Amino acid sequence: MTHMPCPQYRYENDELMCEKVSLSALAKEFGTPLYVYSKSALLDAFNVYQTILQDTPHLVCYALKANANLAIIELLAQAGAGFDIVSGGELARVLAAGGNPHKVIYSGVGKTVKEIAFALEQEIHCFNVESIPELDRIQSVAASMDKVAPISVRINPNVDAKTHPYISTGLKNNKFGVAYEDSIELYKKAQALPNIRIVGIDCHIGSQITQASPYLDAADKILDLVEQLRVEGIELQHIDFGGGIGVRYEDRDTLIDMEHLILSLKEKLHTRGLGHLTMIFEPGRSIVANAGCLLMQAQYIKKTEVKNFLITDASMAEMARPALYEAWMPVYETSKRSDCEPQTYEIVGPVCESSDWLAKDRQLAVEVGDYLAMMVAGAYGMSMASNYNARPRPAEIMIDEQATHVIRERETIESLWCNERLLGKR
Ligand SMILES: *Cc1c(COP(=O)(O)O)cnc(C)c1O
Repeated sequence: MTHMPCPQYRYENDELMCEKVSLSALAKEFGTPLYVYSKSALLDAFNVYQTILQDTPHLVCYALKANANLAIIELLAQAGAGFDIVSGGELARVLAAGGNPHKVIYSGVGKTVKEIAFALEQEIHCFNVESIPELDRIQSVAASMDKVAPISVRINPNVDAKTHPYISTGLKNNKFGVAYEDSIELYKKAQALPNIRIVGIDCHIGSQITQASPYLDAADKILDLVEQLRVEGIELQHIDFGGGIGVRYEDRDTLIDMEHLILSLKEKLHTRGLGHLTMIFEPGRSIVANAGCLLMQAQYIKKTEVKNFLITDASMAEMARPALYEAWMPVYETSKRSDCEPQTYEIVGPVCESSDWLAKDRQLAVEVGDYLAMMVAGAYGMSMASNYNARPRPAEIMIDEQATHVIRERETIESLWCNERLLGKR
């Protein structure tokens, strides 16, 4: 038996439970595929950061792209979170959920004029600037609105986050951030611009990082820059260490000791006389991944000469991570059977792509009609879901002890084409 991601998920009398609710019962009631989240697991994960940082000036900005459901934003906003956004749409989501725009930081390499203007109107905490042309654009938009834009510069520290190449962002050959060597010049330029106010420095080196050392290496490089900026007369208010903290998908995945990491970073600040700076983090995955699971139903068992396929009603359209990154996701039976032998399966979906697989080489005791739960599915699951193959996106449920809240209705088939128009008769 492999691990459970968090105490909110466990077997009771062979039934997999989320808090006080049976997942098989939920699947029956709401249908599959279905996303389920534990409210207390979400808050526990957020509070790991809040607790360790409590006696330091800090802001934990949840990275919306991991899972942008309004109820999740609302819950985290009420718990004191700020937000890391990468589009105007994400800023609109924060506002719609009652989040505070003054706690929003805006990352991303492609901010449009419209998006910059919207963020300035909402008086966000800062723009994380990723290039000189972006800085120029922010200056000109701010000038046209007679505003001053608070900015931080996203530094590319050129450290290897030792993660999958598709989710590594802090190496020289990535599109993200400003080259380390060019950053002082960019700050000097920013300081001379009338509608720009420098507030911080940031980096984000990748995702699903399972070792502390890349963070510590990046921090040393960033702090060297902060000292050089001081010499130039540029004082900052915050240092943003980014997100990317990994979670345990496989038993063999290592986990970063968060207390040790954050205290080490804090120590580095103090050693350099920078203890007054606000520490910002931008976690996405580590807040929502463990809290969520994706429920699916076994539709067919297809035995071939070389392997057994378990065909389910979930697919790469609902969970793209295996198809995109060959990610390993844990899958469990929601009700344990003793009346059938476990077999080794490749779990696949109905989508017409060979990359439409969810899990390989899994021992499961399952019959057609049974439900399965893909665990650690709260991050980059629903937020990456598509309508490929005309598949309506699943409903989402938030569990709070025995209460179930529908936080997103299942899409209807008709809604898939509600923005489409027929040509009509000619
Ligand atoms: C995606 C992203 C994050 C969050 O990354 P996680 O791995 O989910 O913690 C934080 N900051 C930026 C700039 C991002 O692009």
